[in-house]
Amino acid sequence: MEDTPPIQVMVIPVTQFQQNCSLIWDPQSMRGTVIDPGGDVARIQEAIGKHDVNVENIVLTHGHIDHVGGAADLAAALGVPVEGPHEADKPLIDRVADQAVQFDVSDVKPVTPDRWMVEGDKVEIAGRSFDVLHCPGHSPGHLVFFDEELRFAISGDVLFAGSIGRTDLPGGDHDTLIRSIQEKMLPLGDDVSFIPGHGQASTIGQERETNPFLT
Ligand SMILES: [Zn+2]
Ligand SMILES: [Zn+2]
Repeated sequence: MEDTPPIQVMVIPVTQFQQNCSLIWDPQSMRGTVIDPGGDVARIQEAIGKHDVNVENIVLTHGHIDHVGGAADLAAALGVPVEGPHEADKPLIDRVADQAVQFDVSDVKPVTPDRWMVEGDKVEIAGRSFDVLHCPGHSPGHLVFFDEELRFAISGDVLFAGSIGRTDLPGGDHDTLIRSIQEKMLPLGDDVSFIPGHGQASTIGQERETNPFLT
């Protein structure tokens, strides 16, 4: 018998911000989830079609335009619900048109999530149950998703390889962000790998040891 990995992850950089939209699926059941479709919806749909993934939901880490800008269009095209972020990001999501002007992005439609999530919730990603962690600081309603068994997390703009999320945008707060990382992300364990919202993947251990914002 061949070993089939429990999940496949395809990172699709979208928008001028090179945001890591992730298509995650179970290669056996082909059940899948799109995380943070910030834009370039046609390219995301192309990836879904190429791998023949049955996308069941769209999951959002937070309300910034590079993460949510394509959510309404993709949800409509696929006929799937949008889950997340935490309701504290509702003001950001409600102002997505203003964000579009501020960052000179076109073709953005407002999105209304079907479900807000809070700390301790579970969310289905590729048919697996992920823990929902509320990690404010970069934005007030930012969520991180964690699969304990796979030792795998989706960190959005909380923690990056070698950096952390910016805190100069509305609702951002540096001390709150550091606390979220120290109290929620680092305890997940050094062996946990994660995909951030921008740039390369990393591990908690790598960041604990070398990230200049944490050492
Ligand atoms: Zn952001
Ligand atoms: Zn971002």
